[in-house]
Amino acid sequence: MTELAYLATIDDAYVREFRASVVALPPGGVVLDRTYFYPTGGGQPCDVGTLASADRPTVDVVDVSKAGPAVVHRLKGGAAGRSGLRVGEEVAGTIDWGRRYRHMRLHTAQHFVSGRIFHRGGQRTRRANFSGTTARLELDGPLAPELVAGVAEDVRVAVEAPRAITIRRLARADWDRHPLSERSGLVPLPPQVDPVRVVDIDGYDLCPCGGTHLRSTGEIGAVAFEPPVPTGDGGGRLVFTLADAPAAARPA
Ligand SMILES: [Zn+2]
Repeated sequence: MTELAYLATIDDAYVREFRASVVALPPGGVVLDRTYFYPTGGGQPCDVGTLASADRPTVDVVDVSKAGPAVVHRLKGGAAGRSGLRVGEEVAGTIDWGRRYRHMRLHTAQHFVSGRIFHRGGQRTRRANFSGTTARLELDGPLAPELVAGVAEDVRVAVEAPRAITIRRLARADWDRHPLSERSGLVPLPPQVDPVRVVDIDGYDLCPCGGTHLRSTGEIGAVAFEPPVPTGDGGGRLVFTLADAPAAARPA
């Protein structure tokens, strides 16, 4: 069982260096008692980085994934990678912050964009994924170019007049009754999820999510939208990219 330490508060998504204990050493991997490395999931790629211990060379973490209740940090060299680590040993983890921060900006922008699309046109987001500086959204209906232009203006306003983003935990019954549960209800939450971890973009959007997000819409920065594309199944696809260099990354 690995504690997903990046989930606790919005600020915990900004932790880039941490200490943890080794609890298992599967071939080529390391399982820690707690981690701030994000494992691949929900359309967001995993973090990469390093693990260091007192008396051995630093090892590169090249992939992070969930395996049941554990998070496995895969080391460079695969199963042949010999970390020399021991169960019970304390390690220092360091996250590749440039990569993580791009994912946080894309992911937070996606929440905001999905919320504004639902508000303006009623289309719901089926899925989204992030890669490099690009986000791809699949909607359950086609998008008019004018709607996308309006959403782009909404993003610009939210960057210039930032809104706070917080993590709330709502009782499942309260979330199921909330009007905004409809906007993100395409993928049903498993029935055992209670309370629900909800990402709250003040005044704009609420969405259940286990990802990493910004503290403020101001950190999204400039984004550029491609023209929306209708998909063969009656849906729509929308792609946007981070248009500027990554904003100054702020540590926790
Ligand atoms: Zn999210």
